[in-house]
Amino acid sequence: MDTLFDKIIKREIPAKIIYEDDQVIAFHDIAPQAPVHFLVVPKKGIRTLADLTEDDKGLAGHILFTAQRLALELGCEEGFRVVMNCNELGGQTVYHIHMHVLGQRQMHWPPG
Ligand code: AMP
Repeated sequence: MDTLFDKIIKREIPAKIIYEDDQVIAFHDIAPQAPVHFLVVPKKGIRTLADLTEDDKGLAGHILFTAQRLALELGCEEGFRVVMNCNELGGQTVYHIHMHVLGQRQMHWPPG
């Protein structure tokens, strides 16, 4: 069954898309937690970070590199944070892996 993010990839539901290539799509989070908050989502529908396999290593690098490049393009050169929530205890709500990129405010540690 299609995930919410599959529906965004297929343009069945709208999103503010920032970037797309053959492997990933990036769009602004609908409930931003920082002035810049977007998601980098692989088109391959992997459920959680725990489901990543050896075959996905190149894709994982592409997700991270896309996050870095878009963060810099969107004015986060002073710093930014990337987050991947994994499973229920990790705070994941959409079961199609995605990398959050947050920037343009001071981040704190530890996270909630
Ligand atoms: P997570 O809780 O890590 O699984 O993150 C899921 C993220 O998806 C949350 O930050 C939501 O705000 C975001 N989200 C949910 N629905 C949409 C949507 N239609 N467009 C953009 N972001 C969404």
